[in-house]
Amino acid sequence: MNAKLDSGVTTRPVTRQTFDDVLVPTYAPAAMVPVRASGLDLWDQSGKHYLDFTAGIAVTSLGHGHPLLVDALTRQINTLWHLGNGYTNEPVLRLALALTEATFADRAFFCNSGAEANEAALKLARKYAHTKFGPHKSRIVSCLASFHGRTLFTVSVGGQPKYTEGFEPLPQEINHIPYNDIACARAAITDDVAAVIVEPIQGEGGVVPGDPAFLKALRERCDETGALLIFDEVQSGVGRTGALYAYMECGVTPDILTSAKALGNGYPIGAMLTTATIAEHFNVGSHGTTYGGNPLAATVALNVLDTINTPSFLARVKQASAQIFANLTKLAADYPQLFGKVRGSGLLIGLPVAETFAGRAKDFTKAAESLGLMLLIAGPGVIRLAPALIVSDAQIAEADRIMRGAADAVLAAA
Ligand SMILES: *Cc1c(COP(=O)(O)O)cnc(C)c1O
Repeated sequence: MNAKLDSGVTTRPVTRQTFDDVLVPTYAPAAMVPVRASGLDLWDQSGKHYLDFTAGIAVTSLGHGHPLLVDALTRQINTLWHLGNGYTNEPVLRLALALTEATFADRAFFCNSGAEANEAALKLARKYAHTKFGPHKSRIVSCLASFHGRTLFTVSVGGQPKYTEGFEPLPQEINHIPYNDIACARAAITDDVAAVIVEPIQGEGGVVPGDPAFLKALRERCDETGALLIFDEVQSGVGRTGALYAYMECGVTPDILTSAKALGNGYPIGAMLTTATIAEHFNVGSHGTTYGGNPLAATVALNVLDTINTPSFLARVKQASAQIFANLTKLAADYPQLFGKVRGSGLLIGLPVAETFAGRAKDFTKAAESLGLMLLIAGPGVIRLAPALIVSDAQIAEADRIMRGAADAVLAAA
C-alpha cells in the first residue's frame, strides 16, 4: 500500500472558502464550485445543474468531456506524455501539418497559452525587424481596450492600463490607438513600427467586432512600412466565429497569427503561426518552452481541429449564432431598461447593458447563475455568451428562457 494514498490529502473536503484561505487572490470565483461536466451540462458540489454558456471562457468549444477527445487523450496518456524539445513527436508533427494546411501559414511554434503565443509573436516580429531593417524599427502598435495576455510584455501591449498599474517599468516603444479608427492607425504606423497586433474581434474588451475597412487599413500600412501584422485569434479562432479563423472572412491575411483557448478544448496549448520567410528569423535557441508541443496537448489539438474544421460543423455554428442573435434582439426589445444592442460574431456574442443598468453586467450573470445558466461578462458593461460550438437548439431555447427569468429577477430586486 502506498502510504500517500492513506494520508487523505487527495480526498479531504474543500469548499469555496478554501480558495480564500490558500490561493493568491488574483480571481474572485463564483460561490459554487463545479465538480463535473459533460457537453454543456455542469454540476456543482451540491449537485445543482447548470447550462454552461461560458465554455471556460471560449475554450471548451466541443463541450466538456467530448468522447473523441477523451478517447484520443487517454490513448496518448497510455503511450507517451513528455519529451522536452530535444526530441520531436508524431502528434506535434501531424498538428503542424494540419494547421499549416488549413491556414496561410507555413510554420508553427507551440507553447502553452495565449499569452505565450503572443509573446512569441511579438518577439519574432522584433527579431525580424531588427535583422531586416535595424534596431530603430522596434515600435509596436496595438489597440486600446485590447487584451493579449498577462506576461509583462503582452500585458503592456494590451490596451487596458488597469492591468499594468503597479508593474512599471514596462517594456518600451508601445503605442495604443483606438480600435477601428483608420485615421489614427495610418498616423501611428510609421517606419519605425515592427509590428501591429490586433484582435479581429475584441473579446475581453467588450466583444467588439473589427471593422473590415480598419483591418484592411492596418494591412496596407504594414505593407507600406514593412511592419508585420499580427492577428491575435486566441479567442476568435478555432471555429468560434463560424470560420476556422476570423481572418478567413475579413479579407485580410496577417503575417503572424496566434491561437490558444479552444485549440486544446481545455488542455493547455498555444500556437503561433507564420510564413516560412518570417519564421527563418528565429533559429535554434532564439525562443522556446519546455512543454510546447508536448504529445498530450498536440493530440488533443489535432482532434479538435479535425472535428471543427469541416464545412458542416462551421455552418452549424453560424446557424446557432443566428438563433441566439434573434433571441437576444427580442430580449433586448422586451427589456430596454436592461439591455442594449447585441453584437459579436458567430458564438462570441456580447449583450451590452443599457444606460440605466450601467456597469452592472455582473448582477445579471449572477441572477442567471442562480437560475442555472452560466454566462460571462466582458468588462462591467457587457454580458458575454460563448457557449460550446456544439450547443443544441434546445439548449439555446433553455438559455433564452433562463435569461428572461434573470431579467425579471434583476428588475424585481431593483
Ligand atoms: C485569453 C486571451 C489571451 C490570453 O490567453 P491566456 O491563455 O490566458 O494566456 C490573449 N489574447 C486574447 C485575445 C485572449 O482572449
